Amino acid sequence: MKQKTPTEPDEDSQSTLESWRLLFESEVYKNDLDALPGIGEPVFGFEVEWNDLAKYDGLQVKFSENMGPTLFCGNQVLKEQYTDRNMSTRPVIRVINLPSNRSYEVSELRMRDRTRLLTFDGVVVSTSPIIGWLKTSVHKCNDCDSKWTIEERLARPREKVKYCRTCLDIILSNMDTKKPKSYHKDPTDISMVTEENYYEDVQYLEIVSPTMLENGMAENGESFQVVVFDENVGQFAKSDCLTINAVVAVDPLINRDFIRDTRRMIYLRAHSVEEGFSNYIEVDSSEEESLS
Ligand SMILES: [Zn+2]
Repeated sequence: MKQKTPTEPDEDSQSTLESWRLLFESEVYKNDLDALPGIGEPVFGFEVEWNDLAKYDGLQVKFSENMGPTLFCGNQVLKEQYTDRNMSTRPVIRVINLPSNRSYEVSELRMRDRTRLLTFDGVVVSTSPIIGWLKTSVHKCNDCDSKWTIEERLARPREKVKYCRTCLDIILSNMDTKKPKSYHKDPTDISMVTEENYYEDVQYLEIVSPTMLENGMAENGESFQVVVFDENVGQFAKSDCLTINAVVAVDPLINRDFIRDTRRMIYLRAHSVEEGFSNYIEVDSSEEESLS
């Protein structure tokens, strides 16, 4: 079981943190930040150009290959920038303007595309109610007072927390000694610190691509699910045309018959959303309409 305790960031993270720091302290981003974007809002999506990532010591490669941890470091640095400007807003990095070689037709996605960060043109066909999810849970040991945080997974069972790592390590190392103790405190005496749990807003959008509207797939009732987070929740409505930069993910089928069903469906975990299409060129239909 993974248990995270606060420690000094490792060498890799140190260099990632440094790259983000250089990016946010560069002329362009410093000016952006000085305009205090999102002031007064609880959460704000701070846009970073894809191309700019390449200028800071492999940040673009790190971002594409190891997106979660790279963003985690970046959001930490960005939060410091906000705190330095006396803003209580929680900023989240939203990388935008992905290159055309990442542009993809949603209906052509296959399982082999899982985990790729790609960009899609989509039209919203429906939106779900806004819900929340438990993103990180906090646990503590009732014996030694150790506390640790667990990253949960969206739409999956909450991680099982069975024992305190610190207490267990003491027991294990004691077993190696010449005279092991015969009695140990129970390492499983742990509880969740619910008031320190972290919840995130999410919303599901059903989208179709412009191509699906043309080739009849949309009419046939086919659509794809996109999950949006934080400041993107509650922002979009039916028939909005969007560019969705998202990680391809898989979920169990909704109407599965048995719990361990191995079938999976593709959905998109939105990283950032831009208004309007990026790749699809709309055919001007206004002329046609005015004629009829
Ligand atoms: Zn303990």
